[in-house]
Amino acid sequence: MGGYFSGRDRWRNTGTVEGCRSLDVRELHRKGWLRPGLVLSLSWTDKGTGREVASIGVRTHPGQIVLAYNHRRTDSEQWQSIEEPVRIAWTACNYGGQRPWFNCPGIVNGVLCASRVAIIYCAGPYYLCRRCYRLAYACQGEGPADRALRGAQKIRMRLGGSPSLADWFPPKPKGMHWSTYERLCSEGELAQRRYLVRLDAWLGKFQR
Ligand SMILES: [Zn+2]
Repeated sequence: MGGYFSGRDRWRNTGTVEGCRSLDVRELHRKGWLRPGLVLSLSWTDKGTGREVASIGVRTHPGQIVLAYNHRRTDSEQWQSIEEPVRIAWTACNYGGQRPWFNCPGIVNGVLCASRVAIIYCAGPYYLCRRCYRLAYACQGEGPADRALRGAQKIRMRLGGSPSLADWFPPKPKGMHWSTYERLCSEGELAQRRYLVRLDAWLGKFQR
């Protein structure tokens, strides 16, 4: 079974860093592609040339879909294969029936975002809600805590892990030198500690 999504880029006009692919849970639902047990391939095409620019695999499970795709970091020639589970929540509609939502798998301030959203956007290697997407790419106007968090997350993702600080630190990827890995470990730990200290100070302002 194959799928097709138009290569609409909702973000190019808002000045974000990269053109962006998105998934709309309502569209998946309309097409019957949330039924458990399906294996789909979705692709995006360039509006101008009509050529396929990206594709992902989707497996559907009860209450969850798993996105499977290859991602190449901008600083690397190597592709890494990513599997990202995204939970699906259902709510009752006013006029009967149910409508689906994505629970965003992103991490905000070290806490699982889990926002209920209709659309998730490809931000770096992950599909995230609009808020997480903005955090992932926000370069201006962010506080020192955000910057430290971004640093910590970047290191985890560079090692092929999830950006969640709640997860274990990722293991050494195949082919990476131990010295490099150890350096990234201590940089990651430092960024994480910096983030927690700043977050603490920031939250303290409101708790007094
Ligand atoms: Zn989110």
